[in-house]
Amino acid sequence: MINIHCFTCGTVGVDPAVPDRSISRSPIAYTGLFRNPKDRIYLPVKAFYVEYDSHKILIDTGWDSAVRNHPVEAITFPMWVASKPSLPEGQAVDEQLRALGVMPKDLDMVLMTHMDIDHDSGLRLVKDAKHLYVSKEEYRAIHSRQVRYVKQPWYNLPLELMPMQKDESAPYQASWDIYQDGAIKVLLMPGHSEGSVVIRVSNGSRFALIVGDTGYNRSSWEQLKAPGPVYHMEDMKTSLQWVQQQRQDPDCVAVLAAHDAEEQRTLIAL
Ligand SMILES: [Zn+2]
Repeated sequence: MINIHCFTCGTVGVDPAVPDRSISRSPIAYTGLFRNPKDRIYLPVKAFYVEYDSHKILIDTGWDSAVRNHPVEAITFPMWVASKPSLPEGQAVDEQLRALGVMPKDLDMVLMTHMDIDHDSGLRLVKDAKHLYVSKEEYRAIHSRQVRYVKQPWYNLPLELMPMQKDESAPYQASWDIYQDGAIKVLLMPGHSEGSVVIRVSNGSRFALIVGDTGYNRSSWEQLKAPGPVYHMEDMKTSLQWVQQQRQDPDCVAVLAAHDAEEQRTLIAL
């Protein structure tokens, strides 16, 4: 039994150039600075809770509930300006888990697709999970003083490195088959960030991909539209091409992106 619960954990307000860089190639546009606030678009911020038999896995965390009352303390002033977080009551990741009868300590692990603030802000809410995993490449990136990362969500948490292995069949030759049965496989997928990953969830025949920000919506992988924030453009294109190929497989039931408003299923059973 595999269930993927798709949680919408509030919204992020971004410049229209964030999901689709054809609108503006100016790097400053993605920050929202000096842009018309009326043009801002609001996208869902999703996290995914996967039940695989008795295993419980959370992928990404959405916003910390502290953004409701203390957003600047929670995510810093520049990130607040850039992302205008909103998190209605009941939508924090721990609140949605509890609604399903799951306590954070019951989680086997949290897997981070990458460490942008709209994905890792809620780590504090699920810090009692048995493991908090991030890729080695992303771990290095968040410690490299790049302005895109802030330490507030994770600096006192015991992050662990995903034990990736060499895998010739993976697009970047690195993967982690968590239960050694192909059910939940983490694939290195750089481009949007240095150490982004995609999670492939499979029941042996049908599968779904949880892609984080490797694509903002269908047009990203159907038309290979790179989003605004890109760490490495060539990798971004390669990664989107890989997602496109997978989506064309008739056994692929869903590509789940973190900010895709069009995909509205809340439960995908494999
Ligand atoms: Zn994001």
